[in-house]
Amino acid sequence: MQFIKGVGPRKAILLEKLHLTSIEDCLYFLPFRFEDRTQFKKISQAVPGEYVTLTGEVLSSGTIFMGRRKRVFEAIIQDETGIIRAKWFRFNETYMKEKFQTGQKIILSGKPTLNNRSGLEIIHPETEQESGENVSSLEIGKIVPVYHVTDGLHLKSMRAIIKNVLDKYLPLAEEFLPDDLIQRHNFPSRSEALAKSHFPEQGSCLKELDAFKTPAQRRLVFEELFLIQLGLAFRKNRAGEERTGLVFKTRGELIKRFVKLLPFTLTGAQKKVLGEIMEDLEKEKPMNRLIQGDVGSGKTIVALTALLTAVDNGTQSALMVPTEILAEQHYLNIRPFCEKLGLELSLVTSSLKGKERQKYFEDIRTGKTHIVVGTHSLIQKEIQFKKLGLAVIDEQHRFGVMQREAIGKKGDHPHLLIMTATPIPRSLALTLYGDMDVSLLDEFPPGRQEIATNLFFENQRGKAYSIMEKQLQQGRQAFVVCPLIEESESIDLKAAVTVFDYIQEHFPNFTACLIHGKLKKEERQSIMSRFLKKEIQVLVSTTVIEVGIDVPNATVMIIEHAERFGLAQLHQLRGRVGRGNHASHCLLMAYHPISEEGQARMKAMQNSGDGFVIAEEDLKIRGPGDFMGTRQSGVPLLKIANLLRDIQVLETARKEAFHLIESDPDITDPKHQPLNKALQRFLGNYMELMEVI
Ligand code: ADP
Ligand code: MG
Repeated sequence: MQFIKGVGPRKAILLEKLHLTSIEDCLYFLPFRFEDRTQFKKISQAVPGEYVTLTGEVLSSGTIFMGRRKRVFEAIIQDETGIIRAKWFRFNETYMKEKFQTGQKIILSGKPTLNNRSGLEIIHPETEQESGENVSSLEIGKIVPVYHVTDGLHLKSMRAIIKNVLDKYLPLAEEFLPDDLIQRHNFPSRSEALAKSHFPEQGSCLKELDAFKTPAQRRLVFEELFLIQLGLAFRKNRAGEERTGLVFKTRGELIKRFVKLLPFTLTGAQKKVLGEIMEDLEKEKPMNRLIQGDVGSGKTIVALTALLTAVDNGTQSALMVPTEILAEQHYLNIRPFCEKLGLELSLVTSSLKGKERQKYFEDIRTGKTHIVVGTHSLIQKEIQFKKLGLAVIDEQHRFGVMQREAIGKKGDHPHLLIMTATPIPRSLALTLYGDMDVSLLDEFPPGRQEIATNLFFENQRGKAYSIMEKQLQQGRQAFVVCPLIEESESIDLKAAVTVFDYIQEHFPNFTACLIHGKLKKEERQSIMSRFLKKEIQVLVSTTVIEVGIDVPNATVMIIEHAERFGLAQLHQLRGRVGRGNHASHCLLMAYHPISEEGQARMKAMQNSGDGFVIAEEDLKIRGPGDFMGTRQSGVPLLKIANLLRDIQVLETARKEAFHLIESDPDITDPKHQPLNKALQRFLGNYMELMEVI
């Protein structure tokens, strides 16, 4: 970076802190907001909290001492309408004295605040000495960009650096979007878009700029999303050319027998999604489908039907889930069906040891086992399938992209079905799973009732637990979830043990049990099955029960320290109740102090029971970067686009990308050569995305 004018070794290091290590990085390091310094105001018009640019004359200036260590440099500026104070807490005295000599004409910009003693003041304003040369200034008399900076690198030098980069390198910035596309959308050229996104033209609209909606900014947002979608379209298209030879006959004998065993009829949505799956399985191209369905929408039966279809066609199938307890539950649910259908089912988790483990693995290898349910233990090296025809990944959001790939490698392009209950906002789904087909399970089984969600604070604990008690008296059951297992001195959490004691003490007439991840598998299974048989009324638990657990008679979910849980997790936990025909309650127990974000989460939970609304809310509270644990889950780090703000551009970019790949599958058409180059460079920069594409 040092070959940029104004950048020496020291600044190069500071720029690196901002991840600016190349010319291209700088070109695309866009201001995150702008300040309008085109309108000069009179001092009397300045209002606290509203950004202004003023001109005036220095009336006096100097250092003020406030206590032993604290110093402030103050300049009093006046115009014909009044005075205002400018203050600096960090300054070089000699420099400041020189700059703010009495009588000096000055321009200053900033946000005034009202000081009760001394009146209106601006802390650390941007200033410039007024002279005839202001026309060329980057700071004054213009709409001025504001960049993220870091300690030791001032906004002013940042602007100068970016300006130098633009001046020198923009003429070299090659256009790579195809002509017809540019014309269709009336985009400015790449260099024009970059220039205007940094230093807007005179007369630009500040509101539009701050909302990232000027044509120049739109084009850059489009560019980024288009390249991502192009990568996804390319990948999807290539996958479509793979041939498995696994053309399944669907709705065969086994499926017919299975459907007869079901204690209910399928919902319309289940039938629709199964139809889409069956259509995929009848094709030679491997299925690559995502099912999105809120907690309790009935994904398990859909998965099981797919697993059985594979078995009906002489292959094996696997169901992979994120936790041991969920694997055990799926196993227990599926087992009765398998027994009646005469199929071999096995459960593979890390608890599987010794001889038993050898035997299970052997049966999988020889093909004796038809269906395997398990955790990520399933993808370990020693497991070899005779012929894996289909794999289902449940609660996909808990796995990384790598695991999704790994299970696929256990067979020769097996059909892949992934299921997620964490509803992902559409924008994120399009970037995360943009290469998959998506089915929506958007209907609940009949008879479900809304779950009443209420918030309680420490002093209302008795009230919350009395709601539970009432339900227990009516024969219902309850979950109580706690964030930690043992009281720790440093972290003041109500530990599961403490809560468990509290319940035993206050509700001696009911049987409570404590379940957590450290229990042995047998103990856990026995507790779960006793809970299912209603021998246990209250299940106190750490978050091990978060996903998937299904006990329709449970109608109360108490979440202790709800303020510490993330939104997706809270919604998942709430989904453990409301699964039967009885009215259910989700009781959020919160303890002070509660962060602002925590409060927002509590509010979101009370306001909506709809997973998609919750997910959008979550994205808003946390921002896309944080939304799914970023790197591991493969959410690409966007530099310019924002998945909340730019959903429409995303849809357009996606359409254009898939359209282009349709006509030029390998992007080899000579007129797309610059695009091909740009895509390769882009993917090279996005290591996270490389894993997905
Ligand atoms: P999830 O989508 O959260 O995995 P499950 O598959 O665990 O949901 O289903 C939730 C509950 O709904 C289970 O008790 C299941 O037996 C029941 N269920 C699923 N489909 C139907 C249906 N069509 N009619 C009635 N109950 C159903
Ligand atoms: Mg489930």
